[in-house]
Amino acid sequence: MAKRQAAARAAQRSSSMNAVPDSCDVVVIGGGPAGSLAATYLTGKGYSVVLFERQKHPRYQVGESLLPDVWKYCDAAGVSDAIAAEGFLRKAGGSVDWNGEMRRLSFGDFGYTRPALHVERDRFDSILLERARASGAWIGEEIAVLEADLSRAGDNESEVSVSYRPVGEASASRIRCRYVVDASGQTGVIGRQLGLRVFDEGFRFMSVWGYFANSSYLAADGLIYPAQSVRQVPPTTYVSALPQGDGWAWLWHIMLRETTSIGLVIPKAWASETKGSAESWEAWYLKQCRALPLLQRLLADATFCEGSLRLVRNYSYRSSQVAGPGFFLLGDAAGFVDPIFSVGVVFSMYSAYAAAHTIDRCFRQRARRDEHRSIFSSQVQARLELSRSLALPYYQATDAGHARAREAMGFSSMQAQALMYAASLLTDRSGNFDSMADSPHAHRAAAERVRPLNIPLE
Ligand SMILES: Cc1cc2nc3c(=O)[nH]c(=O)nc-3n(C[C@H](O)[C@H](O)[C@H](O)COP(=O)(O)OP(=O)(O)OC[C@H]3O[C@@H](n4cnc5c(N)ncnc54)[C@H](O)[C@@H]3O)c2cc1C
Repeated sequence: MAKRQAAARAAQRSSSMNAVPDSCDVVVIGGGPAGSLAATYLTGKGYSVVLFERQKHPRYQVGESLLPDVWKYCDAAGVSDAIAAEGFLRKAGGSVDWNGEMRRLSFGDFGYTRPALHVERDRFDSILLERARASGAWIGEEIAVLEADLSRAGDNESEVSVSYRPVGEASASRIRCRYVVDASGQTGVIGRQLGLRVFDEGFRFMSVWGYFANSSYLAADGLIYPAQSVRQVPPTTYVSALPQGDGWAWLWHIMLRETTSIGLVIPKAWASETKGSAESWEAWYLKQCRALPLLQRLLADATFCEGSLRLVRNYSYRSSQVAGPGFFLLGDAAGFVDPIFSVGVVFSMYSAYAAAHTIDRCFRQRARRDEHRSIFSSQVQARLELSRSLALPYYQATDAGHARAREAMGFSSMQAQALMYAASLLTDRSGNFDSMADSPHAHRAAAERVRPLNIPLE
């Protein structure tokens, strides 16, 4: 352990001198929540870590609505005080308008004592990355990882080499390590290299989103408040089904400190049928926003932030394998389904925690590496399967998939089970979820906490 701590200190010294070390225990690809937390947890266990991030923080990222569970992972990384000091907006719960039925839930009703958050991800992710740096990880921003050589990873002394290139430079270099952690998000460096990514052919969705200034919002009491009240009266995340798209399409409305994030999640076919070839995505998006009476009301005094429109296709996939000799896939690099229940960032943090624990076990008990990896794989795959069961309306679990999702459910606290079950009651996308939850207590507790929302639409 002393040797490792010395190596970690050497990596840290090297960071301040700006030279990439030649070797380390673990290379982390990507400085999003998954990568930064994995680096922090691993340095905390005494390992030397080099993290490459191809962008410069603060960098833009979508995914602004966070569940209260993020706090337990932030506590474990020692970063909760810095997150709390930033003053992100507290989110009180969810307000959902699904095919004419309006309902709401409040996290407080499920016994959560710490708030869910609405965060500007550039700031949130920067705080996590700075924590990783302070913990002793060597952080290389604007350095892109190209690929990993895993051909000797199965050997007794697992040896991996990772090639990287600073942005704007022509030549690549290599670093040696024992394990590589792929937290590169949707890029999925290793998943793509090894052909592990499986796209959900039936889930042909895309998302288009942008930002408004001065939008009103819905609070947990079911009332509408002006933007100026957002610090006094916490907002909910407002979600609504869209009238088009066979009941699958939906939108989000997330209040941030200065702006509001509003996004549409829609079948690709519907977008191509309804958008004229000469029409811009921005014009099409604004037209859809205006078509919903409640959203129109929230946006009555709002202005669109010019140039803020963004779009993503093919964001829903999983990996046939999330760990193998010498590598681990975390967060979005392992898989992502759909943003409807805001589980992306929590899943990234969970997988970072699980990977750090597993890598530590693999270093300490080499003879049992396969067993440790297999536990990591089955737990991460089970979580992904649970997300699929919650988010995919047509979800047809295979026997193995169903068993995995039930296993993840079984590992969740009663509080988390009740919240998941309640979330599944808010829309009709999760009809299959009933068969997932074992506990009648969680069912009852959830159903009692979903309240009607009475907002006159005129
Ligand atoms: C439309 C949409 C809405 C969403 N809304 C929510 C939400 O409300 N709440 C929520 O919790 N989640 C949401 N998500 C999901 C959330 O954005 C992700 O789950 C989360 O950002 C994943 O974190 P991560 O650390 O795995 O990856 P990321 O945050 O994507 O970080 C990956 C990092 O890796 C870097 N990188 C990529 N390639 C390389 C390379 N070759 N070398 C070095 N670095 C590299 C990237 O620059 C990036 O900084 C949403 C997703 C989508 C698509």
